[in-house]
Amino acid sequence: MPNWRELLAASGLPRLEAQLLAARGAGVKRSWLLAHEADEVVPEAALAVGALHARRQAGEPIAYILGEREFFGLELAVTPDVLIPRPETELLVELARAHLPEGGRLLDIGTGSGAIAVTIAHMRADARVWACDVSPAALAIARLNAARHAPQVHCVKSDLFAALPGERFDVIASNPPYVASSDPHLAEGDLRFEPKLALEAGPDGMAVIRRIAADARQHLKPGGILVFEHGHDQGAASRELLVVLGYDSVNDYNDLSSIPRVCVGRWKG
Ligand code: GLN
Repeated sequence: MPNWRELLAASGLPRLEAQLLAARGAGVKRSWLLAHEADEVVPEAALAVGALHARRQAGEPIAYILGEREFFGLELAVTPDVLIPRPETELLVELARAHLPEGGRLLDIGTGSGAIAVTIAHMRADARVWACDVSPAALAIARLNAARHAPQVHCVKSDLFAALPGERFDVIASNPPYVASSDPHLAEGDLRFEPKLALEAGPDGMAVIRRIAADARQHLKPGGILVFEHGHDQGAASRELLVVLGYDSVNDYNDLSSIPRVCVGRWKG
């Protein structure tokens, strides 16, 4: 039988991925693996680890294989029913949190795993945080993550604002679907495995952003803030949209890779 070092190398996967999957398959900590690289692998462990390595080799996202992804320092459950939380969305969380007044009300539209709502509620015990999603399967994951990290999050099944008549918020935040239906990236990498509902938004990818920006005006308090993530080439269109709809103080922010990523506007009411 091979030792652990040989087994990991034979997977052909990046070292960290091979280790994380091996630790999961063998039921040990990654630190144990690192300390036992020269040990021979018992056949049962080799089989279990090999099965996980094979899934990754076939392209399945590592977050779905492990069933978890770290976001803003919190371990979040993820399944193929939800988008995998991405580092660029941490910018959206920072901006939403910065604009939320003490004791304020925040709504996360299309919450998916709950990443935005749960991290903000975790950091801000004073805030009253709501999360909605049209997908019952996604909402179940959001509820699970809320129960673990921020049980005060109020999760509601809703197609955008449909189930929230009359509710008004200080901040409405969203990482909506914003990929154009014809974008070839949908057939590549992790995106192949992620829910289309969370990714695709019409011919130019702006269909859901337009609905959210228009309808949010009925759900923001005077002076309330809309903040949403968008595609790398949608910064100018997002700013124009908010200005045309009557928002002011409109700004667009670059993510850590210096790509236009999050648009913010203030509803004067
Ligand atoms: N950032 C994702 C991607 O293009 C898309 C996420 C989304 O549509 N909200 O990889």
